[in-house]
Amino acid sequence: MSKETVLAVRSSSKSSVRKVRTFRKDLKMSRLITCAFIGGTGMGTLFGDLGFKTGGHRSIKTPYGDEVMYTIVRRGDLAFVAIDRHYSTGNFRQADQLDHRAYMYALWKVNQFFPSVFNIQYIFSTSAVGGLHNTRHVQDGLELGDIVVPHDVKDFTRGVWSYSVKDRYVHPTAFHRSANGLFCRHLQQLLQENEQVKFGGVLACAITGPLYETPVEIVEFTRHGIFNLLGMQTVTPEAYYARQNSMHLAVACVVTDTPDVEHDVDGEEVARIMNLRKPLLADLFVTAMLDVQDMAGFKCSCTKKLPVFHEDLAGDPADVMGMPVD
Ligand SMILES: [Zn+2]
Repeated sequence: MSKETVLAVRSSSKSSVRKVRTFRKDLKMSRLITCAFIGGTGMGTLFGDLGFKTGGHRSIKTPYGDEVMYTIVRRGDLAFVAIDRHYSTGNFRQADQLDHRAYMYALWKVNQFFPSVFNIQYIFSTSAVGGLHNTRHVQDGLELGDIVVPHDVKDFTRGVWSYSVKDRYVHPTAFHRSANGLFCRHLQQLLQENEQVKFGGVLACAITGPLYETPVEIVEFTRHGIFNLLGMQTVTPEAYYARQNSMHLAVACVVTDTPDVEHDVDGEEVARIMNLRKPLLADLFVTAMLDVQDMAGFKCSCTKKLPVFHEDLAGDPADVMGMPVD
């Protein structure tokens, strides 16, 4: 390496370190940020009515090809990271185009870079789903607008939900962790305490999206007897990656169509129902986050194993370059 190159690298590293220090100072808060929220389109304004302010977009590099955009949402008593999964890497991406690895990895990485600001352990997410009206497993069946906290998930999209063993980013032997309780029992219980929320049932991530099931597929799912909710390919990978991050994750689904009784799914109707449920969703997540935000080091089966990443990644100056930005 020439002398000039060495000096350029040193100067660039110094400026990156300065950026990191400024970032830490900017976000200096009375307590660490321990919660994250992952939502779909239109969820960005979810918390405004509860007095939360949303900061500017920040970005963080990932080894998965994309920078991930995130925001910090805060009120006097609570601050959390929010990620819009469809815009998390810039331009809008449909459900089947998302790289869940990038934004799930970002939640781990901010903890490494800014330990005086973040210790993200608790992830809450929401997803629009079809709900089977004639289900036997959820109390009173499912109606449009219901918010349901499922107890398990089945993936039909045939993905291999695992961080790749790429360079030194993950330990080759770090995987093979149980999928029992992929939705954190503790967080799910907190969401369930809201009496307007229905609990139970199995979410089938039935289709990659942005498509819907055909009538015969709906009949098949209904006859199968164990599925109650039909969703696109988003929840399953997020749940597996949270497990590999050694983080707790809970999901609340909003029933935006009932395909076993109404076959005419309409995108505008989905958006209308999601909008109607925003106040309840916001209240639900904020109440749960207030409950868990100070539970440092809470352990359950989600955290039985350490994150799959190499710890030395956090100290690599190459990864600090160009981040964070507003
Ligand atoms: Zn847990």
